[in-house]
Amino acid sequence: MSRIVFFCIPAWGHTNPTVEVVRRLTAMGHQVRYYSFEPFREKLEAAGAEVVCCDGALPPQPKNLDKIVGRDFAALVEMVTETTLTLEEQVCRELAEFQPDVIVSDSVCFWGKLFAKKLGLPYVCSTTTFAFNQQSAALMKPKGSELLRSLLGIPRIGRKMALLRQHGYPVEKVTDLLQNDNETNTIVYTSREFQPMAETFSEHYAFVGPSLPERAAPAAKKSRPLVYISLGTVIHDRRRFCGNCVTALAGMDVDAVLSVGTAENLEALGPLPSNIQAAERVDQLAVLQQADVFLTHCGMNSASEAIWYGVPTVLDPQQSEEAAVADQMEKLGLGLRLHSEEPDHIRKALETVLADPSYREQTGRIARSFREAGGAKMAAEYILSCCK
Ligand code: UDP
Repeated sequence: MSRIVFFCIPAWGHTNPTVEVVRRLTAMGHQVRYYSFEPFREKLEAAGAEVVCCDGALPPQPKNLDKIVGRDFAALVEMVTETTLTLEEQVCRELAEFQPDVIVSDSVCFWGKLFAKKLGLPYVCSTTTFAFNQQSAALMKPKGSELLRSLLGIPRIGRKMALLRQHGYPVEKVTDLLQNDNETNTIVYTSREFQPMAETFSEHYAFVGPSLPERAAPAAKKSRPLVYISLGTVIHDRRRFCGNCVTALAGMDVDAVLSVGTAENLEALGPLPSNIQAAERVDQLAVLQQADVFLTHCGMNSASEAIWYGVPTVLDPQQSEEAAVADQMEKLGLGLRLHSEEPDHIRKALETVLADPSYREQTGRIARSFREAGGAKMAAEYILSCCK
């Protein structure tokens, strides 16, 4: 039996793919401890992990750590340093008692990586976005404002790196924190076929495909095509966009489900035409099982889930990480880019994807590569192969 310790940031998109891996490991009789946060406790415990909640260690700001990555490195490094040093005493003591055989830490949960390095424990990086190296970083094309903020933050980053070194963490430069090299054992929840520049990643990268829960086959399809629209869980004020979608859909011979994110967005929509249902949040996997087209912001999870269920897409990325996902989907012929959020553009894009079978065929091709990649079972085996 192995003892495995996970670390993750407080974000569903980063936690969800690990849940099935935890379930596999504990079902095989291995002991899993998971350093996470209160909102994730129940789901992780149900998968068999012992959960240690770190809510008190997070600085009050920022709430959306996953969205700071790639936008404001200085704020990220400050936040990571603060969290690491707050957790240090407790976690190092607990790990000395628990004696883990391996630490699995999310690719942006840098404190997990730092503890593994300081304690000299085997480390596996769990990557829920595309894998990231110097070559693929060039695909992220940060916006001018994001670049400027990064440059202005360099002195702040230097101070925090020095502080981490004083505490015994072997980090010379910020890239030691942010990036992994080709020697780092890394799980990536996508396939080599979907990963940009896959040839630049060594055999230390296990591309295991999405790690999704098993679901029963859906009930019989409806007579009309089903359109699903969601811009994810992070961007909140989408009143205008949601209104434009309703205008676009009202005249179409389709049924539609809108996940609008907040009660304010929902209220602003008012009464809806009978072919449209809207909710703050929906069971996205259940809807995708039935959907014929998905207008998505191209968050990595939404993109992977769409592909998994063979649903072609209209691509409406909101920030640079999502734009990199959209670029790859467009390049592989899985979806059509939305160039304006005005109603007639939305309608035209949805109609084009519904009418052209090539989008569904290409999506099916990548879906096959996902299924062949092995998912949670493969990830669990890989973690066990990295144990000391
Ligand atoms: N999701 C959901 N219901 C919704 C909207 C989103 O279950 O109404 C889930 C979705 O299935 C995905 C996650 O929330 O797993 C969103 O992650 P993603 O990386 O796509 O985007 P983010 O919200 O992090 O921008």
